[in-house]
Amino acid sequence: MQVTRDLFNDVMVPNYNPSAVIPVRGEGSRVWDQTGKEFIDFAGGIAVNCLGHCHPALVNALKEQGEKIWHLSNVMTNEPALRLAKKMTDATFADKVYFANSGAEANEAALKLARRFALDVHGEDKTQIIAFNKGFHGRTFFTVTVGGQAAYSDGFGPKPEAIDHCDYNDLDTFEKLISDKTCAVMMEPLQGEGGIISPTNEFIKGVRDLCDKHNALLIFDEVQTGVGRTGSLYAYQGLGITPDILTTAKALGGGFPIGAMITTSAIAAHLKIGTHGSTYGGNPLACAVAEAAFDTVNTDSVLAGVKEREQLFRDGFAAINEKYDVFSEIRGKGLLLGAVLNSKFEGRARDFLIASTEHGLMSLVAGTNVIRFTPSLVIPLEDIKEGLSRFEKAVADVVNG
Ligand SMILES: *Cc1c(COP(=O)(O)O)cnc(C)c1O
Repeated sequence: MQVTRDLFNDVMVPNYNPSAVIPVRGEGSRVWDQTGKEFIDFAGGIAVNCLGHCHPALVNALKEQGEKIWHLSNVMTNEPALRLAKKMTDATFADKVYFANSGAEANEAALKLARRFALDVHGEDKTQIIAFNKGFHGRTFFTVTVGGQAAYSDGFGPKPEAIDHCDYNDLDTFEKLISDKTCAVMMEPLQGEGGIISPTNEFIKGVRDLCDKHNALLIFDEVQTGVGRTGSLYAYQGLGITPDILTTAKALGGGFPIGAMITTSAIAAHLKIGTHGSTYGGNPLACAVAEAAFDTVNTDSVLAGVKEREQLFRDGFAAINEKYDVFSEIRGKGLLLGAVLNSKFEGRARDFLIASTEHGLMSLVAGTNVIRFTPSLVIPLEDIKEGLSRFEKAVADVVNG
């Protein structure tokens, strides 16, 4: 069968608008399309392929588990899930793990747990969930409503209730919004989809303090920031504050679908038998791959390597900007970086992405004004150099019209 991009329009629901390129093979941070054209991957499947493509540790884990047992359902537990949960709790503030299959599902579980906890412990008036404008938490109806872009949640009828938003980094407004009726605050410890926006120190500490003051649970959505992305295993560890519930997905499986919600024993106790669940959550195949990814990423050398690579990217962007004057700033942390376009190129992030693809570079956008880069955490240094040189050519194309 002839498989072309045109077939997409014939057989797929039109909710995506994928690139004309159809990749068929990847190795490390290089990818090849149907025609044999090679790409350097600075996108990493949107912060998912934390170890690049077909990393031997992940391929081995998949093959080994694939010949043992694939699926059981939660009627029975399994060894990979228990080993992974033990490693995750050993490495974080959390005592307990709930496995899901995606970021949205992990967040859905976190929000349901927070509501149940508040109902059990504080009574039925404590339902308010506060989240932040431009935040992104997934596409289920609850999570998209908690997300801070009404455009994504409008048009589907009545929404889940008692959800309020304010601006990220606006502590004064947040302080006016939070009260003893607040059940939980959900936030990204660095906004990804919203444009690569870091929290100020004052804001993040202030949010934690106000949650404590009003007995509200603080939920960190680390779906994009987690598993080494910012140079710490989880971003909270680099910020000096600890959430009550944390969600993780994307890089957790290194490309195999898995998500998790982690929390303390005291909070977890409220997700009693039968209150929540998932057929695939904790699937042995997913957990075996995630365990290999977790073991590989959670080492001093990989985490230190993220910071080393961040510097190479920042130096490269600075050199390109010196020549072409296109960015107003480089935002982000670790290998979650955003090149913000200056006023001359306002709103043209997609043009840079398309030019990059032409020059054999996979990149991303975050909104219309930020070019986003979320490469493999172990991208070879020479691939960074080569990718930056391709990016420079793309920038030159856009600048020269
Ligand atoms: C990608 C993302 C999600 C949604 O994850 P899915 O696996 O697509 O459901 C949620 N939160 C954040 C911060 C994300 O970046």
